[in-house]
Amino acid sequence: MPAIPSPPAAEQIAAPKKDVPAFSPKDVGVIFVLGGPGAGKGTQCANLVREYGFKHLSAGDLLRAEQERPGSQFGNMIKEYIREGKIVPMEVTVQLLENAMGEAIRTEGKKRFLIDGFPRKMDQALKFEETVCPSQFTLFFDCPESVMQERLLNRGKTSGRADDNAESITKRFRTFIETSMPVVDFFEKQGKVVKIPAIKTPEEVFQDVETAMKTRGFQPQK
Ligand code: UDP
Ligand code: MG
Repeated sequence: MPAIPSPPAAEQIAAPKKDVPAFSPKDVGVIFVLGGPGAGKGTQCANLVREYGFKHLSAGDLLRAEQERPGSQFGNMIKEYIREGKIVPMEVTVQLLENAMGEAIRTEGKKRFLIDGFPRKMDQALKFEETVCPSQFTLFFDCPESVMQERLLNRGKTSGRADDNAESITKRFRTFIETSMPVVDFFEKQGKVVKIPAIKTPEEVFQDVETAMKTRGFQPQK
């Protein structure tokens, strides 16, 4: 990924750069998908991709790919943050998302994005909407911790994820409550949150997702 831009030198500040997002919401649609760890974001995103043709970008998957990328200067840092259930400094995640969006627009002609598991901290939310693209709304999957914990421990048997173990899960829940819920509350105050109960089976939850999408003007393809 490109280097994180450093602040401009003093002499360059004279002609201020107009701060517009990289992608205009007139051309590009962004839906954030939030919910606690194990709430079912990835599963429901896959359903939405199949029925509606979105491009799905998972912030966690992008971070894990960057962590594995040979030569990445961020690999060790990302690994540490993920195991501790902490939020990787936003510059890294926002840049990974912007790169992936640009790539999908250029190579696949995609214009509608599901951004999964992001933003989960206020600074990311503000930075992304200011520099990448304002969101249309947020799909929020609401699920009790006991249910999420059971799902994650089950997933941990096969996922190979370094954070699907009891200790990391506890830390992820804490981060979710303390750091990520304020983001949901922030968008809620703007009337931009669609809350979906996520306890039932994936099929039943998806029925509620489809109803919610309809109320927001989205129809399945074909
Ligand atoms: N993560 C992060 N910033 C983000 C999204 C994810 O730092 O914007 C890190 C964080 O450590 C998180 C981990 O990646 O706990 C896994 O995220 P993912 O969305 O894959 O997991 P989920 O919570 O959906 O199970
Ligand atoms: Mg996920």
